[in-house]
Amino acid sequence: MPFRGADLHSHSTCSDGRETPATLVRRAVEAGLSAFALTDHDAVHGIPPFEEACSGTGIVPVAGVELSVVEGDEEIHLLGLFLDAGEPGLAGALAEVREARDRRGEAMVERLAAHGVVLDLAQIRAKVGAASFGRPHVARELVAKGHAGSMDEAFERFLVKGRPGWVPKARWSLAKGIGAVHAAGGLAVLAHPVWYGDPESLVARGKELGADGLEAVHPDHDDRARLRFSALAGRLGLLVSAGSDHHGSGEAGAEVGSCRLDEAAWEKLAAAAVERRAGSGRPPLDLSPR
Ligand code: AMP
Ligand code: FE
Ligand code: FE
Ligand code: ZN
Repeated sequence: MPFRGADLHSHSTCSDGRETPATLVRRAVEAGLSAFALTDHDAVHGIPPFEEACSGTGIVPVAGVELSVVEGDEEIHLLGLFLDAGEPGLAGALAEVREARDRRGEAMVERLAAHGVVLDLAQIRAKVGAASFGRPHVARELVAKGHAGSMDEAFERFLVKGRPGWVPKARWSLAKGIGAVHAAGGLAVLAHPVWYGDPESLVARGKELGADGLEAVHPDHDDRARLRFSALAGRLGLLVSAGSDHHGSGEAGAEVGSCRLDEAAWEKLAAAAVERRAGSGRPPLDLSPR
């Protein structure tokens, strides 16, 4: 079977995506992917159903997570890829992060109410369920109740810094995030560098702290950005990753399979992942197609 690409960034209903892990896997099959990662925000409890859904598809499932961490005063998104999702340290720490996200969700709703925009917290929480409560959950409710015409408008009017519903998140340091990913036997990859104020310095800092790779291919990167960040990764000795950051149609990110890693880059990433896992004391990494 020739290699048909790897999409290593996606979100399910276990964080702020609209589709279940099984639906995402169906999309990955339709897109003809060879490898596919689930990388929910601050959550790994989608990984068991994700891996189960990959069974019989011929896809190589990559267990992942996307951590919101801080470096300086900037929020950085750190992907953990090829993780052992059952590693107890990571799972326990993420449960605490999700509790903090729930308290922040409550604070967002309170702040909006003080501003005259009244939403039903219980109703939002019911939709969040066991997922990680994020701004998209509030944004959807703002759209559903007619306070905004689109998700983008909901963010811009209510949910970004300086707007009435804005509440910052409690975040780990970048160093702590990288350490947690490594302890779970995974590779730490800096996501969508175009988002950061000074990506060159930030990525160099990440490398110093032990990051393994850089997501050079992402829907927010045009051709120039792709080249810029592939070259940056090359200069710093970082691996290259690629992902659609799919959240569902009409949401942030793009369709599953729209951003793909080629075979050569995948082979390098996979080899590094096998080596990392072998040195981590966690069970060996299985990269066979399921
Ligand atoms: P949070 O982690 O709760 O601060 O929410 C951040 C998430 O909101 C991102 O990962 C995206 O999924 C989503 N997001 C951010 N900006 C927008 C936007 N303008 N429109 C739609 N979704 C957005
Ligand atoms: Fe998201
Ligand atoms: Fe992100
Ligand atoms: Zn993402």
